[in-house]
Amino acid sequence: MKILIVDDDEMTRSMYTEVFNEAGFNVVEAKDGVEGLDTATKEIPDVIFTGIIMPRMDGFSLMEALKKNVATANIPVVMSSHMGREEDRQKAEKLGVKDFVVRDMTPPVKVVDRINSIFLKGVEYKVEFNSNALDAQKLARDLSFNSNFQCPECDEKLVLSLRIKNVEKLTFEAQFVCPDCGWKTK
Ligand SMILES: [Zn+2]
Repeated sequence: MKILIVDDDEMTRSMYTEVFNEAGFNVVEAKDGVEGLDTATKEIPDVIFTGIIMPRMDGFSLMEALKKNVATANIPVVMSSHMGREEDRQKAEKLGVKDFVVRDMTPPVKVVDRINSIFLKGVEYKVEFNSNALDAQKLARDLSFNSNFQCPECDEKLVLSLRIKNVEKLTFEAQFVCPDCGWKTK
């Protein structure tokens, strides 16, 4: 995954670059909003991690500019704030940032976790289900499925869909779905 780190402080930039490199990210850097916008357009990163206060163009203006360009409008942006001012958080939310990190309260490895979690939220896994395993037959009876777990609409074998609900607690939302017609349990 490619991350663009935008910050005017070289120490901060190289610190995060190291942390994200270690976590397996491909890192590109920019030293302010102007350079960040330019780099984002050229590199199309998977995610942008930007500071707020920077010369020439700050994090908010960068965010606005990214939204105006079709090529960059959908890149998730995470903002990092030194002081975590409430008005900054609200402004960031209004602009559609994915996460607002208060730097002094968030160790860099946690920042990596939070950025990873953006991509995991809502991810769906489709698991093939063994109708003979463990409580499968009891489950079939309880849910009024037939014993082969076939779709009530088209007879295709149902699969179990697991969607990540909470990344930190690793909780899932589970549903039987039909891979063919899209029928699903409520
Ligand atoms: Zn079906």
